[in-house]
Amino acid sequence: MPNNYHSHCDYCDGKTSAEEIAKAAHDYGIGSLGFSSHAPLPFYTPWNMDADRLGSYQTTVSGLADKYKGKMEVLCGLEIDYIEAVCAPTDRLFSTGSLDYRIAAIHLLSAPNNRNATKSDPKLEDYFIVDDSAQNFAANFKKYYADKPWQMAEDYYHALASCIRNGGFDILAHFDLLRKNNRDGQYFDESSEHYRSLAMLAVDALVGTDIIVEINTGAMARYGFKSPYPEGWILKELYSRKIDICVNSDAHSPDQLLAFRDEGLKAAREAGFNKLVKPGKSGRSYTGLE
Ligand SMILES: [Zn+2]
Ligand SMILES: [Zn+2]
Repeated sequence: MPNNYHSHCDYCDGKTSAEEIAKAAHDYGIGSLGFSSHAPLPFYTPWNMDADRLGSYQTTVSGLADKYKGKMEVLCGLEIDYIEAVCAPTDRLFSTGSLDYRIAAIHLLSAPNNRNATKSDPKLEDYFIVDDSAQNFAANFKKYYADKPWQMAEDYYHALASCIRNGGFDILAHFDLLRKNNRDGQYFDESSEHYRSLAMLAVDALVGTDIIVEINTGAMARYGFKSPYPEGWILKELYSRKIDICVNSDAHSPDQLLAFRDEGLKAAREAGFNKLVKPGKSGRSYTGLE
């Protein structure tokens, strides 16, 4: 039975209600469905949940867990941004309540010209959006990184390693999200030693933790990517270090719940994995690759 722990509904930037996601998941024969709305940030973005909706979100998901009891497990998670000194999965806001699991993600980098600014009144404009539209990404890359093109990848992987060391979460989201805008290697060379050594900072930080890394097929469904996050060589490094994985779709609509799952499972198999982790209300367990 397939499981999916990375799903967005209209509490954040998902296209439909949590009810519609749950119904579709049940129709698809999903065994365990996890909701992971973009958690509130200390400033407005068009895609994060407002802090005052967090309670309603948890109540809605818990109602769905009751509704599908015995038929499908429904879990309540959050996809929480890590921004050093601004927001982290370890924040008190996310340690209370009835969350079943936490996903950590790097979507925003402190823009180089904002490094020393006060963090008391952060705004979205202070950040570089890693998975921005191609057009915005190009403009901001030019603005912040034109004279030092490697610094963006350096900032990304330093932030990811720092997020891992800070802990307080179960699943690491889209390990190499910075590839989204690097089509044809236009910003950095993904096969270079320098790039690989940066990605390895995050791989090494995972050793000795119980953090699960997701294989994320979202960019295959939404942006026509040929392979999931993370890249195959990173998965092999994770396998050799005995890091656990799961396969998630990062669905923003019901039809994406199991999109490209076979490709995700294939990437897992090719890296050597023969089991997936299943976080749950009563702890973690393993399943085979379906
Ligand atoms: Zn994300
Ligand atoms: Zn997501």
